[in-house]
Amino acid sequence: MVPQGLSNFCLLLLLFLHSSPGILAVNNEDPTAKIMEEFSGYPIHEPPHSFDPRSLLSSLSVDVQLLLSQIADLSTFSDTPAPAITRILYSEKDVLARRYVKNLLGLAGLSVREDAVGNMFGRWDGYEPELAPVATGSHIDAIPYSGIYDGVVGVLGAIEAINTLKRSGYKPKRSLEVIVFTSEEPTRFGIGCVGSHLYDIPYNLTFECSRLMARNEAVMKALKTTFDKQNISFLEAARSAGYAKGVDDLSSVFLKEGCYSAFVELHIEQGPILDAEGISIGVVTAIAAPATLIVDFEGNGGHAGGVLMPHRNDAGLAAAELALDVEKYVLESGSIDTVGTVGILQLHPGAINSIPSKAHLTIGMVITWLEVAEDTRDIDEKRRNEVIEKIHESAVAIARKRGVNLSFKILNQDPPAHSDKSVIEAVEVASKELNLTHKRMISRAYHDSLFMAGVSPMGMIFIPCYKGHSHKPEEYASSQDIENGVKVLFLTLAKLSST
Ligand SMILES: [Zn+2]
Repeated sequence: MVPQGLSNFCLLLLLFLHSSPGILAVNNEDPTAKIMEEFSGYPIHEPPHSFDPRSLLSSLSVDVQLLLSQIADLSTFSDTPAPAITRILYSEKDVLARRYVKNLLGLAGLSVREDAVGNMFGRWDGYEPELAPVATGSHIDAIPYSGIYDGVVGVLGAIEAINTLKRSGYKPKRSLEVIVFTSEEPTRFGIGCVGSHLYDIPYNLTFECSRLMARNEAVMKALKTTFDKQNISFLEAARSAGYAKGVDDLSSVFLKEGCYSAFVELHIEQGPILDAEGISIGVVTAIAAPATLIVDFEGNGGHAGGVLMPHRNDAGLAAAELALDVEKYVLESGSIDTVGTVGILQLHPGAINSIPSKAHLTIGMVITWLEVAEDTRDIDEKRRNEVIEKIHESAVAIARKRGVNLSFKILNQDPPAHSDKSVIEAVEVASKELNLTHKRMISRAYHDSLFMAGVSPMGMIFIPCYKGHSHKPEEYASSQDIENGVKVLFLTLAKLSST
């Protein structure tokens, strides 16, 4: 309970401040104005004769209510009712969501273009437009029954960051560009059908457009023979959404190396660290390198009572043996940051009186680094690949020993990516100037930024999400954290644009 005398004092203080806007504005002058001037070396406001502290304060504020209402609007474009979002590539709801975002890009005064697969770009020309632009952005597609913030915060937040800069009167030196990536989530065309041997496939065959933008020829080739579960080809689906018209060759999507001077993505953490530690901003130093293995064993099956043990070729036992080997080889790798998980193990026919004739395993491998030293990364990537090689050798040996057929596919085996020092520093300086707690961290989930690192210096800004929930309806980020993220983003963009 507040003592009577103190509450009276507070009331008087409030009345005083309310009747003295000049004092309030001076005392609470938003530090972002000064920082932006220092970052850009460019005055964000005209000289003092038109100087109004109150308008300065409001002109630099993020319109978080508008942003939240846009996030809510976008969540209505879903095949499942919010907060359970389902927005699959090129579906009707995806097309409507794209239209909504495209409209916002236009309303922000950006010049909008779309490429052959529907990646959207909204550019704000800088006053030195010949310089490589600074880009930011994320994705709006969503896996089935996921949440409303994944990707969306980095798209709508980027548009609001641009709007905030524009409202302030700021003019960027380098052009600023918002990118809305097509299909970050590999839901619809995720499983490629090419290749059967470990080293036949140099690149992964999951499809995210950012891979394509990063000039991945293998993905481009694979797309021509990729179909969804309804047997609709990728190109058919793209055309039905209004893209790839009259185009078979998707190389126009490739971005030139150096096309951006920097790329920075705002994203919810999708992990519990920031929320648990009460830290506002995660400065991403590296993105984990994922690999996915698909293994199928096939034996003769048979009656569980009739076939004696020496005559069996049990696909289920082959899978069980391999699952234990995955754990063994990961533990033996000597890298605490390498993890391996048999997330799916399915037996066929799955009957108590039938010897499994088929077993299907999906093995997820991830490496991350606790160290950012270059030599450590190389060692860890090598270690992961050595573990994959051992798992493959083990699968071959198990298949031979148990007399079962083996199919071993690498769905993806991405190289790790490190954030660029310039982007890390810009995000850290912005966080400091805004008095926001921050820490360096690794992204254990992959993002469009992982692939953008192939064509541009890259970095990421994480904001907390409740208990780390993501890819499910419980996903939640507070308005304060979203606002903090957008502020850090616009200051980072201003900094990077001025270099
Ligand atoms: Zn995402």
